[in-house]
Amino acid sequence: MTNRRDFLRRASLLGVGGALMGRGGQWLAASPVVTRTNAKQLGLQIYSLGRELAADVPGGLKKVAQMGYTVLELAGYSPEGRIGQTPMAEFKKYADDAGLRIASSHLNPPIRGGYTPENLPEIKEFWKKATDHHAAIGVKYLIQPGQPRTLSVEETSWVCEVFNEAGKIAKAGGLLWGYHNHSGEFARVTPGGTEALTGRPGFGRRDPEGTRLIYDLFLEKTDPSLVLFELDVYWAVMGQYDPVAYMKKHPDRIRLLHIKDVAVLGESGMMNFQKIYEVAYANGIEDFYVELENYAGGTQFEGVKGCADYLLAAPFVK
Ligand code: MG
Repeated sequence: MTNRRDFLRRASLLGVGGALMGRGGQWLAASPVVTRTNAKQLGLQIYSLGRELAADVPGGLKKVAQMGYTVLELAGYSPEGRIGQTPMAEFKKYADDAGLRIASSHLNPPIRGGYTPENLPEIKEFWKKATDHHAAIGVKYLIQPGQPRTLSVEETSWVCEVFNEAGKIAKAGGLLWGYHNHSGEFARVTPGGTEALTGRPGFGRRDPEGTRLIYDLFLEKTDPSLVLFELDVYWAVMGQYDPVAYMKKHPDRIRLLHIKDVAVLGESGMMNFQKIYEVAYANGIEDFYVELENYAGGTQFEGVKGCADYLLAAPFVK
């Protein structure tokens, strides 16, 4: 007997084109139809998988897609054109095979110490090569996640000029260039200073005249047409600043987010992801990348799946 549930199941099969009535009235063979119940766009920074991904890149990326992730942000670029040990074209093919889009990439110029006029040519050469390599596989964003030495207002201003140069190179190649923070950017620097001051100024204490947050100088002294920002919301909190306040104040500059918690998303009491997503959507942000560092509760893959499960179940994530 056909009950209502059977009827609905059949109707839905018809609805998705699983079966068609032939001319003679016979049922044509139905091909299996896979429908995504998850319409959410979930991004993952692959650094989160650590060495576990390197063991089996094609298989690992398929697992990531099965968890519900749809977009990747790369890590581990080398100027030889590899992501970790995998040539970039090959990595792209593995991502394609898994149904994952690669939108962004984290990379740092190989400079030890501070940025200087002397090492600027080397930095520019790095970004030129990186732009070509990433354009070839259709990546949209080049993101620098490492903070160059910034011990004074002057040194920070020079770093901003170097960022602008990187942005120009990426733009010439059709890419967008951005900066990703940790907590160190929420330290303060003074004119002519020799150290960055961490933490908030003590009660009743005054910083020297002209003291500024490094992150504020980055926002102020980089060219908005060349440099955008990927805000790591967790590291902003660790730097004792409010990521939501920054997003509200700089809606045109902060265009990507790192969605990160102490470990698996939503398990600590530190991060207000509902508010973060609400303001991000109001600002038109479309790029969100989950990040998980050393996970003590299991494998990195398990932790990354826990993060996906949290976001898939969260009603505030579109
Ligand atoms: Mg991050």
